[in-house]
Amino acid sequence: MPVQEILLVITMDCERARAETRGDASGPPDYASSAKWIEAYARISRDRGFPVTFFIHPEAAVAHPALFRDLAKDGACLGLHLHPWKYGDGKWKAHFGGLDAAQQRAILRETSGVYADAIGEAPLYFRPGTFSANDSTFPVLAELGFRGGSISAPERVYRELCSIWTAAPADPHRAHAVFRQMPGELDFANMPLTVDLSDMQEVNGRRFCRDLRPDYENADYDAIATNVVRQIAARDPAVPVINIVTHNDNDYTNPNDRVPRNFLRSLDAIAVACAREGIALKGATMADVTDRVLALKQAAKEIETVGIIHGRRSAAASG
Ligand SMILES: [Zn+2]
Repeated sequence: MPVQEILLVITMDCERARAETRGDASGPPDYASSAKWIEAYARISRDRGFPVTFFIHPEAAVAHPALFRDLAKDGACLGLHLHPWKYGDGKWKAHFGGLDAAQQRAILRETSGVYADAIGEAPLYFRPGTFSANDSTFPVLAELGFRGGSISAPERVYRELCSIWTAAPADPHRAHAVFRQMPGELDFANMPLTVDLSDMQEVNGRRFCRDLRPDYENADYDAIATNVVRQIAARDPAVPVINIVTHNDNDYTNPNDRVPRNFLRSLDAIAVACAREGIALKGATMADVTDRVLALKQAAKEIETVGIIHGRRSAAASG
């Protein structure tokens, strides 16, 4: 059946203040700006009828606990965001995908504790900084009780950041226990960043496809949105989603700033591209997408099991 509806998942990575990390890192200059910009981003999204999913670095959770709890009461979804090298006293000198399974387990336990003490409950959703992950990430997240996350950026190749996602699934799926670029059967829903697969860029040896983030200095949002929506329609996935990202390091209170202007251009372009294809656009959160992915695959698994029991499964192709 052709795609009838696309879920728009608007996300923001809420970083630690740059005053505590490095001047050239992503993040707000200080937490007073951070709070204003997070609140303004949520307000702009809400005015358009879309909830926001916030992935929150542990220090940002500690800085703004009441703000995030209020946003959650208003329909926002909250999860954990983590750049190990930015966290705490700097003892983890690595990107997330550069950690082995035991290290990932240790830092996720520790930072989930910091987050839970601030927010009031443990995180169920996760996004690693720069989509940095390895084959241990999905099984470790599932083992620790995370239900879902936005872990991958399809076709991204940033080797020095341990973020390689060549041939990764472009649509939400259950994660694989062994091989991160395959869909699998873990009780963990991965929601990839939505990218324009026809727009591969190479800058300073890094390869990536453009997405719909408002942060760009020179992006043709109409072209990206048109391509993204057509690609989703052609793939016809079980859970059609557009997942867009930004950071708490742009002044969303200033309507004349480039990034908030781009945000509205991006949202308009997505709406127009969907309308042109006769597809409805509906706001959703990481939690909504997780529910859809986990429910759907369970149903598929049950059908498959029944098929095997009754001997109706067709012989597998060999070779
Ligand atoms: Zn980040």
